[in-house]
Amino acid sequence: MPIYLASRKDGNRDFAFHFRDAEGAPSSDGFRYHSAVDWFAPANTLIEAPVDGIVVESYSTSDVSGPVFGGVLKLKDETGMVWVLRHVIPLVSYGTKVLSGSTVAKVSPWTGGTPHLHLEIWKNQYGGYVHENMIDPKTVTWVEEYKVEEKPDLSFYYEELPASQGGAGPDVVGTYRFAAYAAGAQLLRRARGETVSRLAGDDGKFYVLRWAPGTYGDKYRWGPFTKEDRDSALKRRESVTSRAMRAFKGRNLSNFPWPKAS
Ligand SMILES: [Zn+2]
Repeated sequence: MPIYLASRKDGNRDFAFHFRDAEGAPSSDGFRYHSAVDWFAPANTLIEAPVDGIVVESYSTSDVSGPVFGGVLKLKDETGMVWVLRHVIPLVSYGTKVLSGSTVAKVSPWTGGTPHLHLEIWKNQYGGYVHENMIDPKTVTWVEEYKVEEKPDLSFYYEELPASQGGAGPDVVGTYRFAAYAAGAQLLRRARGETVSRLAGDDGKFYVLRWAPGTYGDKYRWGPFTKEDRDSALKRRESVTSRAMRAFKGRNLSNFPWPKAS
């Protein structure tokens, strides 16, 4: 069955098929209904044909204001269903045969709010703009290969700011190519009364870290988290410590050296 739009991956579909809508399709119960889904996307987002079909209407307009902004593209598939794309800039003309997945339109700009594709699915062309002639796009099964894999992203981390920046994390006070030099630097600083530690970074270098009084050995970096976990863990941690934490993605963006992978 049909496939859809590039912007689908943003998860911003608004299923509003049964909403009463003054501009909507008339129903036998005397009300008008939205009879479609609105698919929010930036203006000029490219729209792919949901099905193989033929263009049975291609209407362009420069009107980008009011409730009926943008143009209309209607695609009839081989079963006779009509896919009605409103608030769009059609890129294919009447009578064109299109293949599913080919680019057929762009989302129209709109001065009245967030631009969006308004998608109706008509049971047949001659049933027309009537609520009973429409299928709720939410009930349509979309083709698997166009589903975007929502793999959890485990690469988020957060950390204390270094003590010199008001956090409880250590400051990196030296970077050395050789472990012996780092050890020497550590000894010198310890002799001066500083609390220091050494770390072999996964970049092959050796680091000396200076800790704020009372914080030695405290964890200063957490993760990885999924984005969701990260956001809640970050809030929790910040409320416990009353300090701003720094969130980041990717080990090399850390303030601190990462130890060699164990
Ligand atoms: Zn709509």
